[in-house]
Amino acid sequence: MEDTFKHQGKRKLLAEKLAAKGIKDKAVLEAIASIPRHLFLDSSFEDHAYQDKAFPISSGQTISHPYTVAFQTELLEVQKGEKILEVGTGSGYQAAVLHHLGAKVYTIERQHKLYKKTATFLKKIGYSPKYITFGDGYKGIKTYAPYHKIIVTAGAPYIPKDLMAQLKVGGRMVIPVGEDPQIMTLLIRKDAKKFEKHSFGEFRFVPLLENKN
Ligand code: SAH
Repeated sequence: MEDTFKHQGKRKLLAEKLAAKGIKDKAVLEAIASIPRHLFLDSSFEDHAYQDKAFPISSGQTISHPYTVAFQTELLEVQKGEKILEVGTGSGYQAAVLHHLGAKVYTIERQHKLYKKTATFLKKIGYSPKYITFGDGYKGIKTYAPYHKIIVTAGAPYIPKDLMAQLKVGGRMVIPVGEDPQIMTLLIRKDAKKFEKHSFGEFRFVPLLENKN
């Protein structure tokens, strides 16, 4: 599949639509306008790639709505050079957005097939994360901790302790918490023990699954 002027025009419109829905961060909107989202979907969905919709990717998973990606990314307040842990690599689209913003991305996916497919694909299109691995995101990636930012892209029944431990002091974690729907939650680490919590309304994600590898 290729990237054409038509695709570029469509994602510029998508970025404008997200701005109209309340996304303010110019760098986030520019990332959405730049990244060829249609390449992250199976070809049968290509025409829909630039609508604000979630779509199935392989292994029964979904790529999040562009609005959700933009909303979570905006809350992270990404600065160039920061280390960011993403839980739930999925299609790799969110990882590409973080990479585009200049972050060093560490991402973990628990479905082996999806992990392999996405690792190969991200490399091919030039959005290679610093580190991509297969494993249980509840445990984070301890080897490279602590992180400036952590983003969880599946619905977590609770905030995993290991992820809290892997967040730098002053760092931000954006995580949808709850069964269905989830409440978008921002945690800011104030010091070794203190975390400030903010809530940002309801979203719907596939569940962050436990105990299956
Ligand atoms: N960020 C993705 C969205 C993926 S949907 C994108 O941009 O496309 C959520 C992903 O979380 C799915 O791929 C799912 O397999 C994965 N997931 C679910 N439970 C997980 C766990 N415990 N650890 C890591 N990944 C998990």
